[in-house]
Amino acid sequence: MKSSNDFSCISECSQCCIEREYYPSKKFGKIGVLILPREKNKIESLAKEHGIKITVLPRIGISDSKSNEPTGILAFQLMGKDANGNTCPFLDTESDSRSPHGGFTCKIYENRPLACRTYPLIESTPLTIDSKCKFCQECGQPDGNLQSELESLIQIKSSMNTESEKIWRYATGIGEVDDSDYITNGWFAEAID
Ligand code: SF4
Ligand code: SF4
Repeated sequence: MKSSNDFSCISECSQCCIEREYYPSKKFGKIGVLILPREKNKIESLAKEHGIKITVLPRIGISDSKSNEPTGILAFQLMGKDANGNTCPFLDTESDSRSPHGGFTCKIYENRPLACRTYPLIESTPLTIDSKCKFCQECGQPDGNLQSELESLIQIKSSMNTESEKIWRYATGIGEVDDSDYITNGWFAEAID
């Protein structure tokens, strides 16, 4: 039976490919699209193939408890192309091409990162989508049509699972000019309970 609030993108929306957020706070700068280590080479090759300049920064690092810096990388991030950190470099904002729901198209849609296949889903139990997604803002939390997003979320979660003693988060140093006093750059160790 069809659910009453199935997820589908809002007409003409491209918000999640354009707007980037400060996470977990302004100090860490704006984040990019999460890229798993096994996706990095492919994304860089696709950028070359399309003649697109991209910036991939580290996002989450790991180490033993005594290290002063990460010794491994759990995740990278594909940065936005604008000076303030917004707009995915693979988003086609110039041509007349539009996706089925009328948004801008992704130049690497068939090969887009798992994070893009997962969005807007952020939790599996209960199914929860990002409150910043336009669907959520206009229609509330959906109750169906998120199966492929769920499968991608499970893959990301299992890749990010770690027994490492220390987790590091990379501050991108990127954001709005007005926020430059708050934004930092480089690795910070996460507090572990
Ligand atoms: S996932 Fe949400 S924010 Fe992204 S295009 Fe669809 S409706 Fe818009
Ligand atoms: S890779 Fe494609 S789907 Fe992902 S943020 Fe960029 S334009 Fe959007």
